[in-house]
Amino acid sequence: MPIKNRISKFENEITQWRHYFHENPELAYKEKNTAKKVVQLLKSFKVDKIETGFGKTGVVATIESGSGKSIGLRGDMDALPITEENTNTKYCSKIKGKMHACGHDGHTAMLLGAAKYLSETRNFKGRVVLIFQPAEEGYAGAKAMIDDGLFKKYPIDEIYGMHNIPGLGKGIIAVDEGPKLAAADNFIVKILGKGAHAAMPANSIDPILCASSLIQNLQSIVSRNVNPKETLVVTVASINSGEANNVIPDEAELTGTIRYYDKAVGTYAKDRFSNIVKNTCKLFGANSKIKIKSGYPPTVNHQANSKFAYEVAKKVVGMKASSTQIPMMGSEDFSYFLEKVPGAFAWIGNGNSAPLHNPKYDFNDSILTTGSSYLASLAEEKLNKS
Ligand SMILES: [Zn+2]
Ligand SMILES: [Zn+2]
Repeated sequence: MPIKNRISKFENEITQWRHYFHENPELAYKEKNTAKKVVQLLKSFKVDKIETGFGKTGVVATIESGSGKSIGLRGDMDALPITEENTNTKYCSKIKGKMHACGHDGHTAMLLGAAKYLSETRNFKGRVVLIFQPAEEGYAGAKAMIDDGLFKKYPIDEIYGMHNIPGLGKGIIAVDEGPKLAAADNFIVKILGKGAHAAMPANSIDPILCASSLIQNLQSIVSRNVNPKETLVVTVASINSGEANNVIPDEAELTGTIRYYDKAVGTYAKDRFSNIVKNTCKLFGANSKIKIKSGYPPTVNHQANSKFAYEVAKKVVGMKASSTQIPMMGSEDFSYFLEKVPGAFAWIGNGNSAPLHNPKYDFNDSILTTGSSYLASLAEEKLNKS
């Protein structure tokens, strides 16, 4: 079962859909035209049921064939606030400041390709739930769909998704169990000191000196508090304080991110973080305000589902299937789905392209039929007729 012949036959169509989405990018929760196009195509494929406005701008559709299990397949639809620099392509973004720089145009097109094939052939027993989600890029569209009753209205037994990865060989599908993307929490720390003339430091509580010490102290969380076998990132990514060369300011503000795979590690790290901030500030006579905002949870692939997905990938791409899926410290809101339903999130190699979120990035059209075949095969194999 390599790339499905029937899917290869409409490769041009899938490519056209991808280019249409690419030319017309829409940001989180604004994917109205994208959703409209998705619905129009799903109607032409004669799927059974289509529901719009799920999680604001998401679309859910079902394809049924007799009775059996139910499997969810997900594609994300939103673009990024970036101005595209690939002006040499025929399908460059038509909208300045908006671009499909994460390949969600390709993900949506691949899921549509699988939908067309599955609706046409119905070579399975059960129900396929197609989930076209909004707002993956930082605005938790997956959670919005769950909160809107996605799994109550459309109960599913398992869920699968994938993301293209630049740098991984073209069309390689990599999937295995465990954490694959990190939880990403963000912090803002305010150091409240006391300003003074820069020539009279004794009259101040210098927030800049305190901040520089604090940044050093925070490094000890990763290096000395957490087991070296665990994965943790504590990054101070911005520091703002002061304006003039002869004034010690009142305050300093630091922002950054704390990322981890294991929630217990995250809880411990955040606890240490707050303690270090409070006590370092105290040492300097300053006060502090700490805000830690929880982001997406870690994306953790379930064991049996990852194994199954790898077996399916092997059937579709043969030697290009890999059971070594390199974990990354980025984050994904597919994590919310995996917290509710067992499943797996795979990488599909985008070849040697510019990185994700780069103005020169482009989804690789030559992997569209591979992705569609993989998604369709997951459904057919899981909802096997025999
Ligand atoms: Zn992204
Ligand atoms: Zn993405």
